[in-house]
Amino acid sequence: MTLMTWTNIQMRRLRELGADKDALAARFADPAERNRSFQQMEKRLVSRERERLEALLTEGLRPRLLKLEARMVAALNREGFTQVTTPIVMSRAALAKMSIDDGHPLAGQVYWLDRKHCLRPMLAPNLYSLMIDLGRLKTRPIRFFEIGPCFRKESDGAHHNSEFTMLNLVEMGLPEPERHGRLRALGAMVAEAAGLRSWRFAAETSEVYGDTVDILAGDAEIEVASGAMGPHPLDEAWRITETWVGLGFGLERLLMAAEGDESIGRWGRSLAYLDGIRLNLQGPGAPANFAVPSGRGTQARRRSAS
Ligand code: ATP
Ligand code: MG
Repeated sequence: MTLMTWTNIQMRRLRELGADKDALAARFADPAERNRSFQQMEKRLVSRERERLEALLTEGLRPRLLKLEARMVAALNREGFTQVTTPIVMSRAALAKMSIDDGHPLAGQVYWLDRKHCLRPMLAPNLYSLMIDLGRLKTRPIRFFEIGPCFRKESDGAHHNSEFTMLNLVEMGLPEPERHGRLRALGAMVAEAAGLRSWRFAAETSEVYGDTVDILAGDAEIEVASGAMGPHPLDEAWRITETWVGLGFGLERLLMAAEGDESIGRWGRSLAYLDGIRLNLQGPGAPANFAVPSGRGTQARRRSAS
């Protein structure tokens, strides 16, 4: 006899409610047994999620994404990195300086606001601009970072949100032979501060982007960061001639990896999830949280109030 799995709709609902792998892999002899099990499991998960939501409102008080951000700020400040905050609206000219024009793979992913402005798909152009200005100071090395929203049109939803939080750090003016080691030390520092359990570097050399290093997390080896170093082919457009190392992390990806989750949806900005907890916690057939009062009912209340 072949055993049945959850229906697609049941599976989606159980995933939303954070069911674990064993629960998702359950098998049933017939539809009646499956439906009974679904109802019991949904009820259990809904009450667990309600408790987690209540704990957030009474004790946690901040979603993990924002706690992670605060930990990152503290860790980078300790390393002597200054936090900066730059505009979210970016000019076409700034993107062009990153060689992101019509032929570039990222070009189709940009949200344009009008002919000359878009929502930034990355922090790098703004940080390049600051490298020029801060580079005029005598002090070396110069270290800074930004954490903030970036926007990309994406086709894959499991590991991508259309709006996500980038952490991009830059250190400029370090001795050239130290760059590789420093890039790795900074990558390790952030990965540890994020609480990643298993992760590794994956180095690549490309003609266009020079030496790059990605950080891959977990068994699924999900990319959580990409790093690069200068002198770099893009530096010329910004008239940067110094050495630098830089790393860009996705905070939601770091969180997803640290939580051992396989999809990113619940960790970003959302109205469906709060701190990874599904907000639609009505069971099937349960009354709605609130009903729109009908005209008659409202009138009746008004009359009795007057
Ligand atoms: P991918 O190949 O996974 O789409 P990428 O190489 O295009 O990512 P980068 O430009 O290297 O992304 O951006 C730096 C980091 O920002 C990535 O390593 C990832 O952690 C994060 N990131 C990029 N795009 C997204 C997205 N749409 N949603 C969530 N995080 C993202
Ligand atoms: Mg990358």
